[in-house]
Amino acid sequence: MVIKSLARIVGILGSAIAVAGLGASAFATDVTAVRFGAHDTFSRVVIEADSPIEFDAFVLAEPNPRLVVSLPGAQWRVSGLDNGQGLGHGLFEDFRFDPSGLHPRLVFNLDGPSRINQEMVLDPTDGGYRMVIDINPSTQADFIEAAGFPERSQTLTQLLAEHAQIDALAGVCESPRIVVDAGHGGRDPGALTRFGGGHEADVNLAAARVLRELLEATGRFEVVMTRESDVFIDLEDRVRIARAAEADMFVSLHSDAAGSSSARGAAAYVLSSSGVNRSRTRARREGDWFLPDAANRPDEVNEILFDISMGDKLNRSYQFATELLSEARSVTPLLRERPEHRGFLVLLDAQFPAVLFEMGFLSNEQDSRNLNSDAHRRRLMASIVNALEDHFPSCGQSPGVQFAARTDGAAR
Ligand SMILES: [Zn+2]
Repeated sequence: MVIKSLARIVGILGSAIAVAGLGASAFATDVTAVRFGAHDTFSRVVIEADSPIEFDAFVLAEPNPRLVVSLPGAQWRVSGLDNGQGLGHGLFEDFRFDPSGLHPRLVFNLDGPSRINQEMVLDPTDGGYRMVIDINPSTQADFIEAAGFPERSQTLTQLLAEHAQIDALAGVCESPRIVVDAGHGGRDPGALTRFGGGHEADVNLAAARVLRELLEATGRFEVVMTRESDVFIDLEDRVRIARAAEADMFVSLHSDAAGSSSARGAAAYVLSSSGVNRSRTRARREGDWFLPDAANRPDEVNEILFDISMGDKLNRSYQFATELLSEARSVTPLLRERPEHRGFLVLLDAQFPAVLFEMGFLSNEQDSRNLNSDAHRRRLMASIVNALEDHFPSCGQSPGVQFAARTDGAAR
């Protein structure tokens, strides 16, 4: 798990308000106005409050570009906008005030990839304290790189540390563990062959074996297979295998089929926002937070860890899926140019990034011939290896500081 340090602490009441944000409202700050300005090169939002306030501003890429401003202890008191929603201007499409999370937050839907250019707090002149945030348009690549949940406030970090040891793993050299999942198998053949060669389960397994061979040949990855023969494995069991392996990336291989024989090309899928909600609902209901040692922590803390973990997972999944498609396009036509969002069960786990790769269509004659060709499979799997090598910098190149919530206190 990588937590980007974007925390911006402003205001003399900093730590006191952070405590208030964890539950009490003794130090509540009223948000009294939200204003926008659109300029040639940037867009500005001004959030006005009746007292100085600690805030964290960060961008999220998934499921759509957003600017999130976390406002511990804030209450919505904007006259004329009693429902906490409004339209934006410039790069800001619209916004809503969301009091439901650990900290109240303002969420701005953005027009496209953007980055935070500057943040500042201006003292009152006539009105209240003003938090000013300027954003610029950015490239998709820079946006994905910068997006993510920030390191939380000191108070929260301490709270989490009491319940799950947070070890700095910077500089620790370890082989990324890739879980390779050959879709279907046994009594579930998946898509049936129409042009000769194997059914989907056979094609997926043949590809998975090549992927393992190529990954191991790099000497850089550990590989765990969810199945190594033509056996039926429950979807939940595939997830369990990946969790037990502490996967750094889960790659599920499938072959598509469509009614029309003209549909062809590869596609990559990552978890959708409805999938995230499904995952959270199930976690709440079953008390299964996809987290090690969850039973020994209060659910409030589990939910925070789940949020951090899920935000990080979504960003990493999307980033890898993008890299994968850009490598694969030289080997196969693409059904879709960019990763798509789906609620597939094997993608739901919050613990590890996961991508489902549809390698092509068995219902298309050319794709089917390719998928049954050893040479083509080898080229296609090599493109996945290239993407994984890009995604996981080799030892000594790892940027930033990594934190992982662990229970055994040991860096692996
Ligand atoms: Zn399938």
